[in-house]
Amino acid sequence: MSAPNLIGMLPSELEDLAVELGASRYRGRQVATWLYRKGVVDLAEMSDLSKDFRAALAERIRAELPELERATPSQDGSRKLVFRLEDGARVSAVVMPDEGRTTLCLSTQVGCGYACAFCLTGTMGLTRNLTAAEIIGQLLAARAQLADGESLTHIVFMGMGEPLANYAALVQSLRVLTDAKLGLGYSPRRLTVSTVGLVSGIEKLAREDLKVNLAISLHAASDEIRSRLMPVNRAWSLEALMRAVRAYPLAPRQHVFFEYVMLDGVNDTPEEAQRLVRLLRGVRAKVNLIPFNDWEGSRFRRPPLPRILAFQSILLAAGLTTTVRWSKGEDIGAACGQLKEPVVA
Ligand code: SF4
Repeated sequence: MSAPNLIGMLPSELEDLAVELGASRYRGRQVATWLYRKGVVDLAEMSDLSKDFRAALAERIRAELPELERATPSQDGSRKLVFRLEDGARVSAVVMPDEGRTTLCLSTQVGCGYACAFCLTGTMGLTRNLTAAEIIGQLLAARAQLADGESLTHIVFMGMGEPLANYAALVQSLRVLTDAKLGLGYSPRRLTVSTVGLVSGIEKLAREDLKVNLAISLHAASDEIRSRLMPVNRAWSLEALMRAVRAYPLAPRQHVFFEYVMLDGVNDTPEEAQRLVRLLRGVRAKVNLIPFNDWEGSRFRRPPLPRILAFQSILLAAGLTTTVRWSKGEDIGAACGQLKEPVVA
């Protein structure tokens, strides 16, 4: 078995490791600062650590980022980054600059086991979970190739995989991201975990006191349609899902996001819009309507624009904040539900 990876370890774990190696906790804090604040991964470059301590570290751990295999720019300014992992598996992250913010979309699994009918990633099946090192590693590697003055202001867990199905690595990553003193220092309000609706995972996340944003891939407002589109709905109905969502603790002015891929003739009727209004009643909700991105072999189509706008206007009239999100990166296979890479080299 290979040595544990330094990347993705909590600052407190790095302090414990330093003590185990006979050094002070302060040495662990220095390592955390190099990794997460300065983005330096190579132990040899951590110049304020003694040679002996670096040698002791190198015997116990390794510090390796996922290999950035390709960075593909899109016409809309987003970039798809494809990483090759140690076992040859590939995952993608997407950098999306937009109106003064730059959002990074991270993957949490190789493939996905939830088989949503409209999703290209879902056709891959699940290969394995990513480790916290591989999740945080995507971010550090993405950060290293930013232009001067550019920074990753927001992080969304909406890439390949279902974050809550890789719960331990997700929460470890969120703790590294939100550690204000020695971690990556993100406000939880800038982090969003997107889920297909794993009720037990939402309930667990609610108890972690992480206060990150929650996004629900909803895609239908009735069990009948949702179960056809998303097999997970057969395990957890909309009623169970909405019960967990209503119990998720929100800070003042914080919302739950609902993602809704619009599929021609499937979930885009005025009746479904009315059902959605009823379903979200009393929830501090923001709805993102995502016109479907066609992919080869898919049996779904994007609805015509007037139908999308008519659906939106029903939600707006009911007082629901609703945006139509034209997915970023459509031309590079980086849009929602399009993150598919050949899994093994
Ligand atoms: S939409 Fe999300 S949960 Fe569903 S198959 Fe695609 S990646 Fe998996």
